[in-house]
Amino acid sequence: MSRNNAPTFKFRSELVFNDIVTFCENAVLLKDFAPKEIAILFYHIGPSDIKIIYEMSNPVCECGSKLHKHDLINWNMDKKYPIFKYRYICPKCKKTIITPLEPIVKKGCNYTEDIRVMTMNLYSKEHISYANATKFLNEAYNLNLSRQSTYNFNDK
Ligand SMILES: [Zn+2]
Repeated sequence: MSRNNAPTFKFRSELVFNDIVTFCENAVLLKDFAPKEIAILFYHIGPSDIKIIYEMSNPVCECGSKLHKHDLINWNMDKKYPIFKYRYICPKCKKTIITPLEPIVKKGCNYTEDIRVMTMNLYSKEHISYANATKFLNEAYNLNLSRQSTYNFNDK
């Protein structure tokens, strides 16, 4: 067997996570398009004092100015994972904006979109009651959803 096909490159973490993850001294920065599974991965493998922070991939204000990082906002993802989001400030119009994570979580919803959609599907497609859907998801994902929050998913 020829050795010509043997891989000659080495995996480096920076390459594997290219564009999605930046490693800092005390933080792991995730771009706003990073799936929530990446955040959960670092929650499990990172040292407990490492902050997992979502940042904007294109921090530009509506007025066209580049946004500056202002401070960190706590976000308890799925009321389980301690994640942070950067809040930005526009140096020109002084507007602030918290890193939007629309594909991951809808505005005003406490739980991420996949959990919300799964609950809705269990109810509407599988005809499983909200109570049982809640129980199932809590056991499957080790969450602490309340029946009330699954009712509220209907409104989104
Ligand atoms: Zn602005």
